[in-house]
Formats: sequence, C-alpha cells, structure tokens
Amino acid sequence: LDARKPLIAGNWKENPCTVQEAEALASEVAEATKQAGDVGVVVIPPYPFLVPVQNAASGALMIGGQNCYFEEKGAYTGAVSTAMLSSVGCTYVLCGHSERRTVFRNDDNAINRKLRAVLDHNMMPILCIGESKEEYDAGLNKAVCAIQLSKDLKGVTGEEMKRIVVAYEPVWAIGTGLTATPEIAQSVHDYIRGYLAKMYSREVADEVIIQYGGSVTPDSVDALMAMPDIDGALVGGASLDGAKFGRIINYKK
Ligand code: PEP
Repeated sequence: LDARKPLIAGNWKENPCTVQEAEALASEVAEATKQAGDVGVVVIPPYPFLVPVQNAASGALMIGGQNCYFEEKGAYTGAVSTAMLSSVGCTYVLCGHSERRTVFRNDDNAINRKLRAVLDHNMMPILCIGESKEEYDAGLNKAVCAIQLSKDLKGVTGEEMKRIVVAYEPVWAIGTGLTATPEIAQSVHDYIRGYLAKMYSREVADEVIIQYGGSVTPDSVDALMAMPDIDGALVGGASLDGAKFGRIINYKK
C-alpha cells in the first residue's frame, strides 16, 4: 500500500500563449517542488512547450503530453505520436481527458488505442474517467466509471495496469469551481480500486495510483489528499498559477 508515491500533475490545457510564459511558470513550479515532500510532480504543457519547459525545470519536474495519436508516423496532419512524446522526454500522457472525449469526440475505442500506444513506448498513461452532471444526478457515477474502465483498459495486462495512473475527474467539477467532497471522491476511488481488483487482482489494484481531478485548489487539496484512496491530484486551472500550484504540491499531511 505504501508503495503508492503521491503524484500531482498540472494540465495546462491550451495555455499559456507564449513560450516565455511557459518557461517562467515551469521555473516557478520547479522551485516549489524543491521544498515539497516525497511527491512526484508532472507538468503537462502544450506540445510546442514540452522541450523548453523541461529545460526550464532543470530536472525538478517530469513532463507529460496532453494527448497523442495511436499511429506512430505517417500522413496524419496535425497528429503527434507516442514515439515523438517519448523522444522528447515525456514520462506521462493524458488519455481520455473529458475535453478530448467531448470537444474532440474521442470515443473509448480511440482512447484504448492511445493508451496502448503509450504503454508500448514505455510511458505511463494517465487515464481520465468520470461522470457528467446528468449521470451524477442520476446516481450513475460509479457505473459510468466501471464502463469507461472496462472499455478503455481492454487488452491491458495486470503488469501493465501497475504503470497506469487513473484520474477520477467528475466532469461537473472540471473548471467549474465545484469540487467533489473528499468523502464522495474517496467513495468513488474506493469503488474504482475495487473494480480494478475484480478486473485484475487485489495486488495490482493496491499499486495503482488514483488521482482526483476537478477544481483542486490550495484550499481543497489537503482534505482530499488525506483520504486513503486519493493518491494525487490532476490540476487544471490552479496549475497555471505558480504560487497556487506550489502550495498544492506542498499539500499538508
Ligand atoms: C482538468 O482539466 O483535468 C481539471 C481538473 O481542471 P480544473 O482543475 O480546472 O477543474
């Protein structure tokens, strides 16, 4: 159980607008990471900023891709492959972020193929799952997570599962300022771990890092991280503010 080292990730989405701003933010986050305890920190900038961000972070941070395409190379204008992400030093790649599922119409089959490509290039997928507001109101939050896990993890072995981070992100909490209470989040995380234990084994499930995402801020992070099955956070908005993200990384136990 104690093998699960906390992991905090900052998903910058389509921000900031210039490489200079990206480098400045990365340096600030790298400084804050030096004070932090035993926590892994990954920043997930837009593709053009991956290399400059990594250089600005001078080894203090890991970098990740926000998306990928499952074909390794070829005539796929606009696409970026896992081979490319791996070659510039990415350790993580987001798969199935709700904005990819909705705005860009990625279905579970595409997400499964992307996750497969990430594993095949020896990086770690951060698989994002979670229910919409309507599904939450209908009491379907756990059922939706179960369906997404079963489809998105198709063909994944138990050993591979240990390299996958699951991010539970209730869609109604993303960018809305609404956070699931620590108790609700814990209950879904416990359910997800139990579902993985059924799909694989208790041993595998106990090793999987499960992050919570959805309007995590300096004010909410401590109580969320205190929950036994919340092993980290996937942070959007607050990761664009160096001081706020620095406080999140330095969450109080
Ligand atoms: C996200 O996009 O993964 C996210 C959790 O965003 P925010 O923190 O802004 O809700």
